[in-house]
Amino acid sequence: MRASAVRALFAVANRPEVVSLAGGMPNIADLPLDVVANTLSDLVKTKGQQAMQYGSGQGEPMIREQICDVMALEGIEAHPDDITITCGSQQGLDLVTRIFCNPGDVVLAEAPSYVGALGTFGSYQCEVVHVAMDDEGLQPEALRAAAQACAAAGKRAKFLYTIPNFNNPSGVTQSLERRKAIVEVCRELDILVVEDNPYGLLTLDAEPIPAIRSLDEEQVIYLGSFSKTFAPGFRVGWVLAPHAVREKLVLAQESATLCPPVFSQYAISSYLANHDWKAQIVTFKDMYRARRDAMMEALAEYMPEGTTWTEPKGGFFVWVTLPEGLDTQAMLPRAVTARVAYTPGTAFYADGLGSRNMRLSYCFPPPDRIREGVRRLADVVNREFEL
Ligand code: PMP
Repeated sequence: MRASAVRALFAVANRPEVVSLAGGMPNIADLPLDVVANTLSDLVKTKGQQAMQYGSGQGEPMIREQICDVMALEGIEAHPDDITITCGSQQGLDLVTRIFCNPGDVVLAEAPSYVGALGTFGSYQCEVVHVAMDDEGLQPEALRAAAQACAAAGKRAKFLYTIPNFNNPSGVTQSLERRKAIVEVCRELDILVVEDNPYGLLTLDAEPIPAIRSLDEEQVIYLGSFSKTFAPGFRVGWVLAPHAVREKLVLAQESATLCPPVFSQYAISSYLANHDWKAQIVTFKDMYRARRDAMMEALAEYMPEGTTWTEPKGGFFVWVTLPEGLDTQAMLPRAVTARVAYTPGTAFYADGLGSRNMRLSYCFPPPDRIREGVRRLADVVNREFEL
């Protein structure tokens, strides 16, 4: 196991004078706390005994039914029996890796990919093989080549890990054509797809694209989460998996936690039942859109020539590529001195690439702080040329 580069940063980045474009914390300031407080209070009064008791290893039936409605928004038809509740989708990643991977097994993942997933794969001693992506997401032919190279080396790729919507860290979204092509390749080569989709409903410009799981029920294991559409502190996510995998997942969940947090499941279930959660997501989207736009404008205004960045259509992140010769890891202490923080690109590769890249998050600071942060960052980048 390796210490997370992101976590090590938090202590410094959280100082008030620093504009942190580093972390990926959702901004939950717009949540109606009075509504949540009433929901929790009613819950304790009316169902406290069950909500504070041990529960099912698979998760409570009521919330599993409601999750089917949430997933329907992205074209997924699911049965509540095929859902296993987890402590955030992070635990879903852990359980899936535990079930499928022995030390030395290969996991295919986008280049770049989510640092927390790379950490999980590393903790089970998997080898991560990155697959190239472009503006439309993971490239199916690169996927085929990577899987075939693994097979030729006598290794089997256990699954493809992919974040099709607003990839963390790149902000890139897979087009529907790409999703279809990826499923085709995975069917042909018999590789499972692990679709990680915590940001899918936070589309800022268009309707959600159908999930990969909506294209194939047998080949795809889908990870969902309430962390970004409600609040991360409840730690409730889920895995939708084909029947045989689901049975193993429940066993793995029971061995890990006995049961996922029952109180949190009841709390979210009551929130979904009694509150207009879809309208709340619209409120979140309006807030994130203003922040995304502020970051896009500031990057265009301040960043030196030769710097490029992605244009996210949702989610939290922008992926910046600095001009040749610059190194975001080496630059970070100078950025923090200049009171701005970001996450260096190398955190998102298992193979040391990404030294000219950085991930900028627009989710947490308000728009004026984002503008100021990008201005400070551009100053730092400009000074790098003089070093
Ligand atoms: N997957 C991705 C791509 C993420 O960005 C995150 C959180 N940053 C997670 C999984 C884990 O989220 P949670 O455990 O809160 O559901």
